[in-house]
Amino acid sequence: MSIQNNLSNIKATLPPHVTLVAVSKTWPVPDLMEAYNAGQRIFGENKIQEMADKYEQMPKDIEWHMIGHVQTNKVKYMAPFVSLVHGVDSLKLLAEINKQAKKNGRVIDCLLQMHIAEEDTKFGLDEAELNELLASAEFKQMENIKVTGLMGMATFTDDEAQIKKEFSNLQSVFKSLAGKPTTNNLQPTTLSMGMSGDYQLAIACGSTMVRIGSSIFGNR
Ligand SMILES: *Cc1c(COP(=O)(O)O)cnc(C)c1O
Repeated sequence: MSIQNNLSNIKATLPPHVTLVAVSKTWPVPDLMEAYNAGQRIFGENKIQEMADKYEQMPKDIEWHMIGHVQTNKVKYMAPFVSLVHGVDSLKLLAEINKQAKKNGRVIDCLLQMHIAEEDTKFGLDEAELNELLASAEFKQMENIKVTGLMGMATFTDDEAQIKKEFSNLQSVFKSLAGKPTTNNLQPTTLSMGMSGDYQLAIACGSTMVRIGSSIFGNR
């Protein structure tokens, strides 16, 4: 199957309110260009240097999403161009993104990453930490970031009931967040959950953004 065919097959199954992020980490520019030429404009990468290299080489109407864990000292390399940072899991990281966005005269959209998996290998906030972050005076003063929603990753397992439970938990946190009054830097409309193996389930649990890699580009 070609990248173009894979993309159109996946798109045919996505409801119109669900955004597709093509996760292109590890794949070379010609593969990304095949997706681009098939109409894909949103790409997700998990390493800042790799994303910056691809940004340099590719058309400028692409939206680049950082989906991986972000080290604060590398934020400056993506601040000029990144469209959405999915994996923000601390006030410290958010403060650095705010600072670098300001230097670039930008407002950078961010998703707060929630810890929903049973495994403790994955990053993320719990609900109490989320509320503490959003209630802090420091957050309220940030003018160059906008929290546009939440992101989460389910446990890597074949147990669908387990995955569904985790996605449902995240959906309920998202719903309560979305029910709060919005401010300039808090406008939660995006729930980023679901990858190649579990995106149908994620959509059934309210996902509005799926991050799909191997089902488009092949196994890494
Ligand atoms: C790699 C990755 C994906 C895509 O995974 P696939 O199983 O290849 O679809 C999605 N989200 C994150 C955070 C990733 O690191």
